[in-house]
Amino acid sequence: MGKVLTSAIKAKERPISRIEAEAGTDIKQCYQCGKCSAGCPVAFAMDYTPRQIIRLLQMGMTDEALNAESIWICATCETCSARCPRGVDIASLMDALRREALRQGKITDKKIAVFNRAFLNGVKNFGRSYEAGVLLQHNLLTRQFFKDAELGLPMMRKGKVSLFPEKIKARNEIKKIFERAERMRGE
Ligand code: SF4
Ligand code: SF4
Repeated sequence: MGKVLTSAIKAKERPISRIEAEAGTDIKQCYQCGKCSAGCPVAFAMDYTPRQIIRLLQMGMTDEALNAESIWICATCETCSARCPRGVDIASLMDALRREALRQGKITDKKIAVFNRAFLNGVKNFGRSYEAGVLLQHNLLTRQFFKDAELGLPMMRKGKVSLFPEKIKARNEIKKIFERAERMRGE
C-alpha cells in the first residue's frame, strides 16, 4: 500500500502528469492522425507541429517539448482541440506547457516567450499594454538593443506609440489577479 501511494505521489510530481492534470486532457488518447496539425494556422512556423508535440510527450521527451518554439507560437485558437477525433485538448496542453516552461525557467533564449513576459509585466504594472516598455524590455533581454528603432521613433513622433505608460485606475485589482494566478501556479 505504502509503495503504491509513494509511486502515485511521484507520478503526480512528474512534469508530464502535472501538465496533463493542468490541461485536463490525456495524451494517451492521441493516435497520431495529424488532423490537429493540418488545421493549425501557425503550424508552418513551428519547429514541431501540434501532432509532434503530443508525440514527444507520449515518448517521454517532455524537455524537448518544453524547449520547443511551437508552444510560444501557438495562438490558442483552439482549432486543433475542435478537430481532434479523440478529444485531446491540444490548445489547453500548449497552455499548460507554456506555464511549465515558465516554472522551469526555460524562456531566457526564447524571443517569443520573452515578449510574452514583457507584455504581461506591462499589464500587471499599468493595467494595460505598454508598447514602448514591451519593446524596450524585449530588446534588452534578447540583446537586440537597436531592433525596431527606425520604426519606433517615427511612431513616437507621430503619437502612435507613447513613451510613457498610460495607467488605468484600478491597477490594484489587476495586480491582485496576477498575484492570485502566481499563487495558483506555486510561484
Ligand atoms: S488530432 Fe488528436 S488524435 Fe489526431 S494527432 Fe492531433 S491530438 Fe492526436
Ligand atoms: S490552438 Fe495553437 S496549436 Fe492549436 S490550432 Fe490553434 S495555434 Fe495551432
